[in-house]
Amino acid sequence: MPEPEVIKTRAAIRRWCDRAREEGASVGFVPTMGSLHEGHLSLIRRAGADNDSLVVSIFVNPTQFGPGEDYNSYPRELASDTQKCREAGVNAIFAPPPDEMYSPAACTTVDQTVLTELLCGAFRQTHFKGVLTIVAKLFNVVGPCRAYFGQKDYQQFVLIDRMIRDLDFPVEAVMCPVVRESDGLAMSSRNKYLSPAERRDALCLSRALQTAKEKFAEGERRSSELIATMRGCIDQIDAAKIDYVAVVHPHTLQPIAVIEETAVAAIAVRMGSARLIDNVILGEE
Ligand code: AMP
Repeated sequence: MPEPEVIKTRAAIRRWCDRAREEGASVGFVPTMGSLHEGHLSLIRRAGADNDSLVVSIFVNPTQFGPGEDYNSYPRELASDTQKCREAGVNAIFAPPPDEMYSPAACTTVDQTVLTELLCGAFRQTHFKGVLTIVAKLFNVVGPCRAYFGQKDYQQFVLIDRMIRDLDFPVEAVMCPVVRESDGLAMSSRNKYLSPAERRDALCLSRALQTAKEKFAEGERRSSELIATMRGCIDQIDAAKIDYVAVVHPHTLQPIAVIEETAVAAIAVRMGSARLIDNVILGEE
């Protein structure tokens, strides 16, 4: 596989993507914060299969971290990420330094009503404003493309898909399934923060969701029952501090009392210095 081109400036990535499109290529785009694992690589492979040229961005976005969160300690591994991208057939990596993306004079942001207040938004007040702003900026420099996101961050996908429609970005958002370790833990760059004991305890998230899935398959449609079951699994672990356990509508993200067709069961738990999220879609074919 040829080395991907590592591009540091907005002007250069814009030129690169414009040139690809002028040559008739479709552009597949995977935004990431790096420290790439199999979850990211599944998005990259899917984007490579669907498109003629493949762009990955690697940028630890300061504006989506709140005060006291892990911006400084977030893993940064550009050399090994570049190697993984090469093996996955990535053509260009956009890896700008922070001051390339944010001018000190910047005072425009992208935010949303309603959706940003729910689930993780209730616990990380400015997080989604930071996510939407950087994703909007990345869409503007990459230009028309298909962009790939993980179901792991389900709320993030719903927000970005809403932003694309509301602000008419020439982008199609594609959601890819959660990739898990062999024991069920959803892959995450933040799993590196877990001690061996916390790593074992962290299985309570996927276990709780799996139990909810089984109850749903047996016919349980009352969210209160599903939530109680999931909480029961997590409460067995002393180190797990629940932010939320919810069953919500797949598009509005509002809590639903009785599931008619589909719903998303979503969990956020703090464990040591890590905050872990996971979800399953109930009623999906
Ligand atoms: P991040 O680098 O954490 O910002 O994630 C970049 C993209 O990878 C996002 O769209 C995530 O939803 C996706 N992603 C992260 N972990 C996983 C996973 N375990 N399975 C699928 N997608 C994932």
